[in-house]
Amino acid sequence: MAEKSKIAHLLERLAMGVAAHDRENPDHHTWGIGMANFDIERLGLEEGEQILPGIVLQADGGVTGAFRVLCDGDHDRGLVEQEEEAIDAVAERIRELEHEEEEELEPAHPWRAAPPPLRPPL
Ligand SMILES: [Zn+2]
Repeated sequence: MAEKSKIAHLLERLAMGVAAHDRENPDHHTWGIGMANFDIERLGLEEGEQILPGIVLQADGGVTGAFRVLCDGDHDRGLVEQEEEAIDAVAERIRELEHEEEEELEPAHPWRAAPPPLRPPL
């Protein structure tokens, strides 16, 4: 399981995404969140788990760094694009959080610790 606060943040954005979808489409039944396998694994999640009440996480083969609200309704092209804009902001924040973690684990510029190049003797 990845860092708890990151997951809490992600779940909050997923819930907001579902809420926004359901508000725009009150006649749709939302049953899942779709993510690429790559994202599910790097977030420490599992396909098929109930990620929100009544909402199951599903590997959907879509683009990475984004999630899709899965429902039984039809969407016109305009609405799908609108949802993806919000998703990009979430993906960007997840990348920032991961970048912060990486910097704690590794020296910022390891190559600068290398000795200066040898000079030939005079
Ligand atoms: Zn829908």
